[in-house]
Amino acid sequence: MSTATTGRPGAAGTVLVVEDEPDLARMVATYMTHAGYRAEVALTGRDALERARRLDPDVVLLDLGLPGLDGVEVCRQLRTFTDCYVLMVTARSDEIDKIVGLSVGADDYITKPFSPRELVARVQAVLRRPRRPAPAEGGSGDSERTFGDLVVDLDGRRVRVDSRPVELTRTEFDILALLAASPTVAFSRRRILDEVWDPGWIGDEHVVDVHVAHLRAKLGDDPGTPRYIDTVRGVGYRMVRP
Ligand code: CA
Repeated sequence: MSTATTGRPGAAGTVLVVEDEPDLARMVATYMTHAGYRAEVALTGRDALERARRLDPDVVLLDLGLPGLDGVEVCRQLRTFTDCYVLMVTARSDEIDKIVGLSVGADDYITKPFSPRELVARVQAVLRRPRRPAPAEGGSGDSERTFGDLVVDLDGRRVRVDSRPVELTRTEFDILALLAASPTVAFSRRRILDEVWDPGWIGDEHVVDVHVAHLRAKLGDDPGTPRYIDTVRGVGYRMVRP
């Protein structure tokens, strides 16, 4: 099975389309190309991993239902060498809860059938997200924020708990950086979506809770007696006062 590389130099970004139905894969790649992206197709999980290593894509559109190596396993393996955005594509919306529970590190989820316009909008939204958080308040140049034994280096994008480095996905770090940069502010889920995703992001605000749950798990924070991230009932999240 041949796979096509389309797009032009200087494209808005590189998208790897992982989908085992060749017609759907080609259609999605064509839409991405028309939207200005360089697009490449992988029809299997193994092919996806090989191409991702070579291409260093900005976004991977990853079908959950792949024969052999499935989307969950591909996502796990991608996360061992890239922090590209991963949009997981699922056939049923109830699968989303199941896969997020597995903490595979996808940044967003989209359910089939999707309109090509919606898919392009999602890709544009993730690529518009800032790669670095907004400068820390006061702009003192000191980019570290400390909350007990949690240290968040906003500029260096590094996180330590009890002096040990913690590996976060880009989305998890962006949420933590947003909260840590303004630790007295209670952020609503909508505001977190606006700041970390995009003001035009359309979808379930529940996705914020999913990422915060992963973040807490990685930081070793217990939502019942939080040391770092507090749930503000009916609103969203705020850092626990240092
Ligand atoms: Ca499939």
